[in-house]
Amino acid sequence: MATTHVFVGLALVAPVAYTVPELATALAVGAIIGGLAPDFDLVFTHRRTFHFPFVGGAFAVPLLAVTLLFPSALTAFLAAFALTAWVHAVSDAAGGGPEMDPWTNPTDRAVYDHVRGRWLRPRRWIRYDGAPEDAVLAVSLAVVPLFVFDGLLRTVILTLVVVSVIYALLRRRLIEWTPDWLE
Ligand SMILES: [Zn+2]
Repeated sequence: MATTHVFVGLALVAPVAYTVPELATALAVGAIIGGLAPDFDLVFTHRRTFHFPFVGGAFAVPLLAVTLLFPSALTAFLAAFALTAWVHAVSDAAGGGPEMDPWTNPTDRAVYDHVRGRWLRPRRWIRYDGAPEDAVLAVSLAVVPLFVFDGLLRTVILTLVVVSVIYALLRRRLIEWTPDWLE
């Protein structure tokens, strides 16, 4: 689920934020937006329009290098954003498909590979977004960031944890409440 992607990004940047506290806010905001942003393609072709499992790396890796050479709030934000958005796209292949009811109607499309022009198949290590194992992963990943970040950031992370758990609890019922045009 989208929040798990946010926690992956926060867990990745947390050691850097701990070491260089003056960049903590830029790194966390980059990770939060980078974790959520790819899924805004829900209104276009979900898991394709804003998901770049290979091309994303071509942006993230140079941005990480630039940030190491020129550490600033801007470069830290951009690197955290690009890295988290890239890992988001890659790790969507570890879950199920983008369908609303994967337990009754599974597809073989996890995320689109723009380089080879085809869909990657879902590995289903996490069976579907909002599955119990997804919630466990999300909460586990949030632990370190909750210690590293403070103030408003800690409140935002805690809120996302609560949202994740509620989403996972309601996940199988959501299908009944979703308007047809979103499915
Ligand atoms: Zn996604």
